[in-house]
Amino acid sequence: MAVCEQADSGAASERTPDGSPPDPAALIARLAEAIGPDRISDDPDLRTRHATDWSGVPAAAPLAVVRPRTTEEVSAVLQICSAAGQPVAVQGGRTGLCGGAATGDGEIALSLDRMTGLSTVDRRAGTLTVEAGVTLAAVQEAAEESGLFYAVDIGARGTAQIGGTIATNAGGIRVLRYGMTREQVLGLEVVLADGTVLSDMSGMQKNNTGIDLKQLFIGSEGSLGIVTRAVLRLHPRPGATATAWVTMDDETLLPDLLASARAALGPALGAFEPMWRDYLETVSTRMSGFSLPLDPAPVAVIVECFGPDEAAAREALEGFLADRMEAGRVTDAVIASSVDQERRIWAVRDEVPAAYPTAFKAIIPFDVSIPIGRMNAAVGEMRSELTTALPDADLLFYGHLGDSNLHVVVGLHEALTTEAKHRAEAIVYDRVRALGGSVSAEHGIGRSKRRWLAHTRSAAEIETMRRLKAALDPAGILNPGRSFAA
Ligand SMILES: Cc1cc2nc3c(=O)[nH]c(=O)nc-3n(C[C@H](O)[C@H](O)[C@H](O)COP(=O)(O)OP(=O)(O)OC[C@H]3O[C@@H](n4cnc5c(N)ncnc54)[C@H](O)[C@@H]3O)c2cc1C
Repeated sequence: MAVCEQADSGAASERTPDGSPPDPAALIARLAEAIGPDRISDDPDLRTRHATDWSGVPAAAPLAVVRPRTTEEVSAVLQICSAAGQPVAVQGGRTGLCGGAATGDGEIALSLDRMTGLSTVDRRAGTLTVEAGVTLAAVQEAAEESGLFYAVDIGARGTAQIGGTIATNAGGIRVLRYGMTREQVLGLEVVLADGTVLSDMSGMQKNNTGIDLKQLFIGSEGSLGIVTRAVLRLHPRPGATATAWVTMDDETLLPDLLASARAALGPALGAFEPMWRDYLETVSTRMSGFSLPLDPAPVAVIVECFGPDEAAAREALEGFLADRMEAGRVTDAVIASSVDQERRIWAVRDEVPAAYPTAFKAIIPFDVSIPIGRMNAAVGEMRSELTTALPDADLLFYGHLGDSNLHVVVGLHEALTTEAKHRAEAIVYDRVRALGGSVSAEHGIGRSKRRWLAHTRSAAEIETMRRLKAALDPAGILNPGRSFAA
């Protein structure tokens, strides 16, 4: 990162004599003086709204909500908070699923929602420069209007902010083809806990001059610094897609089907999304508004193929599926023949989470990684242990096989108890560890997965993360108690 600056907020000695944070009223007054009273609010309704995120992790309302408009204002706020030892909860769109943006006792919430500036697309470089508070959907639209394509896509696109997707290294359904958010970030501006601004916004892919500092902040969930701006990589827009629903009677052949799809379709393979039998049965028996294109089978996969035009995409996908059916690897398949059919196929994968509240009293969701070759073993073992432990629950297994990502949802028909949650967690995370996986594939650790971090990260790795934290945020004010932060 090229530039190191620090705006002067005059925040040298805010800390009280005993080292405790200052009186909230004094701190709020000090922040209002530094960046303007319209940037900070202690309105009870606003504080309640900013207390938690999509995960619903229980949280205390923040002392105040600070909504800066510029990087300099973020810097001024952090200088004051750092000097005062005032803990700060960093907030994007609050769609996080692990409670990382949920506020803790005595914290202020720093929301990036007013930093919504967006440059015009640089078509020659294939980049877009944005402020952190721009939503993912706005980035996708800006790219689209210029005939280009931003490759990250997640269900929360309308509310999740670019800063949040960078802080969590968000994944989604296009990782197989384009990689995670990390692969889309060419430049980053970050404010450290003491207000120092690190700015590397050149957008150059090649820059081997020492450590690529921006990588430290991507995926570290706001623990090391606050993302304020980014240069994003855009791709040529895929000409057309063809989408198939494929069923298999032998789920153990899934990794082979993926390998042959990769070999046959190469970079045209856009998505490979398996859903196991229990998922298909639950969707067809407990949820309304979905239509499975084929009868439930041991496993169904949505396969998406890109092509320069519709005919080419369809021809490539048809050729691949015909070959696999002839080889006895695929039981049945349908290719969507209209936009509406394609939408209905994707709905079975994308829109099911929205139906959980009507289908279940509560859910216990998991987002884990499992090496591709062990995915079926993981599903089989987890299914059998979870069924024994929670016989009345419905189980949903689905994933992004190409990215080693497995989602497991335990759907409960009775109120969630701590005991049920802990039993399910122990079963899933013990299996994940035994099979060499990771307890979080794409949602992060936040507050809710902290106790499991050490399950699949070594003591040496966690200690190194904490040393980085201590070096960049010695007062420990950024997102304390989340992820690897003490
Ligand atoms: C319906 C739905 C579908 C989802 N699908 C996916 C999916 O497919 N793949 C996936 O990866 N995730 C998914 N998510 C999870 C979530 O949307 C992502 O984690 C997203 O990246 C969070 O962005 P946000 O702006 O809402 O961040 P928040 O929830 O506000 O924050 C998330 C974390 O990032 C930190 N943070 C936020 N902004 C900044 C910033 N500017 N600088 C530094 N730190 C910051 C916060 O402190 C917190 O720790 C889904 C969520 C929902 C509700």
